[in-house]
Amino acid sequence: MDSKNDLEGNLILTEKHGPFHIIGDVHGCFDELLMLLQSLGYRITENNDLKKYEAVAPEGYKLLFVGDLVDRGPNSPEVLRLVMDLVEQGVAWCVSGNHDDKLKRKLQGNSVHIRHGLELTLEQLSRYSKSFISKVCLFLTELPHHIVLDEGKLVVAHAGLAETYHGRHSKSVRQLCLFGPTNGELDHLGLPIRLDWAADYTGSALVVYGHTPVKEPRWKNNTVNIDTGCVFGGRLTAISYPDLQLQSVSSFTCYAESMRPFLESQQDKSPQEK
Ligand code: MN
Repeated sequence: MDSKNDLEGNLILTEKHGPFHIIGDVHGCFDELLMLLQSLGYRITENNDLKKYEAVAPEGYKLLFVGDLVDRGPNSPEVLRLVMDLVEQGVAWCVSGNHDDKLKRKLQGNSVHIRHGLELTLEQLSRYSKSFISKVCLFLTELPHHIVLDEGKLVVAHAGLAETYHGRHSKSVRQLCLFGPTNGELDHLGLPIRLDWAADYTGSALVVYGHTPVKEPRWKNNTVNIDTGCVFGGRLTAISYPDLQLQSVSSFTCYAESMRPFLESQQDKSPQEK
């Protein structure tokens, strides 16, 4: 299968076999991201002439981001700058998270509810140039909703994705990738009730995702949630592929209160523990 990226679609990179480092929800935690990348062996420098970040990756590695680069945290614009530069240099790929998508809709001029940390991102972005903000808008518009890699053996999607939809592109697949399945009902806090798609997952591809903060990376069937809630005072986590080693850095402080408690439900053993 050839690589292709239909706009806002799925990105098929089955010929890319890794190794990869996949990074969980960053939510503007720029300093923790730099520290995690450094601990993974990336050398990040800022080229002041070009006004670009540059990265030297450890031998053969590429980065993948599960999305939700922005909102709630202290420095969403620099996270965007860094990831945009790394994507442009071919060092990284990124899928869209629901927060990235909402920022995109706002920057495109749509009316959205300014809450859940978007107010902070907009305030931070107001100190940046118009041309940078247009670049951000274009970058977010072109983000795929999921990426299929390594002959279909690895799938990265922000909220995960059931096997039937791997490599498929439609409005509803996109919705699932960004928000995950919900049952249409609200919980006592007025938040949509999220369904545990991973509990029913029977696919052969490893699905790496984020979206719902967990205390520890959560293994369930052949899926792993690596959103360890850095912005909520947890950790920023990376998983390597194909050897599935976890690495994380603790957040420097709690930047936001989580409305949902961190998920602590029963989980499978990691492949290493089995
Ligand atoms: Mn998130």
